[in-house]
Amino acid sequence: MHSVIIKSGLVTLAAMVASVGVAAAAMGLQGQPLAGNALLLSFMCPLFVAWPASARNYWQKKKLKGLNGELAQAHDALAEAHRRLAEAHARLALRASRDAMTGLLNRESFFQSVECRHRDGEACHLLVIDADHFKSINDTHGHAVGDAALVAIAAAIARAAGPEVVAGRIGGEEFAVCIPTGHEQSDAAVAEAIRAEVAAIRFLGSEGRPVALSVSVGGATFSPLLPVGSVLRLADKRLYAAKSGGRNNVVTGAPHSVSYAA
Ligand code: GH3
Ligand code: MG
Ligand code: MG
Repeated sequence: MHSVIIKSGLVTLAAMVASVGVAAAAMGLQGQPLAGNALLLSFMCPLFVAWPASARNYWQKKKLKGLNGELAQAHDALAEAHRRLAEAHARLALRASRDAMTGLLNRESFFQSVECRHRDGEACHLLVIDADHFKSINDTHGHAVGDAALVAIAAAIARAAGPEVVAGRIGGEEFAVCIPTGHEQSDAAVAEAIRAEVAAIRFLGSEGRPVALSVSVGGATFSPLLPVGSVLRLADKRLYAAKSGGRNNVVTGAPHSVSYAA
């Protein structure tokens, strides 16, 4: 408020000086001195016109400055809210794509990723992995121990498969991985690494009793001509063959079928 009064006062003063100057010059041209009513008017006009006009102008400028500051603050707050929303959205999307128990991709996201690669014409090897005799682990040690065993198996699969391999939990005690064809290891080697990593888990069940964990693995290779469903069926068929071959076993593609069953 003070600055408005000072600034508009200065403008009024300048207007008065200019007004008196102009009036004095005009009167001088007529050979008369500036005095009386003419002098009074040349002071009063700027006071009643320039002062309210410039005071109003400075007041509005000040208000606008304040509003601009508020607008900038509101803009910053909006940008911050937007950033938080984007973070929450990313967290939600991540949670929605993951299996809550094991942290691997859930079935839907896993197959979405596989379909995506398939659409792009990228070939990959699919391994379907099923925990062996899992019902008996639940029956003997309880469901909570069964859950912990599934978490340990999922971690072993992710460890053995490595970061370039997409891994998911596609059913209760069933997992799958998709290995890019350019991967440094063959599908059979990754399958065997997964089998061995799970078999090496030292898992303790109820009352600290050791529980042997193992998985059987069936594999098949995608080609752009084969629909995903057909490849999955073939991998399932080989998983069944691995189970029939004694479990803790890997069957990827004919003709090699490696049995590690005890
Ligand atoms: P196989 O070697 O032939 O695969 O035998 P299996 O006992 O593993 O297979 P089966 O299909 O007979 O049983 C699967 C079991 O897996 C039964 C089910 O209760 C258990 N299971 C599935 N999902 C979960 C889970 O989220 N937690 C626990 N604890 N158990 C689960
Ligand atoms: Mg099973
Ligand atoms: Mg099963």
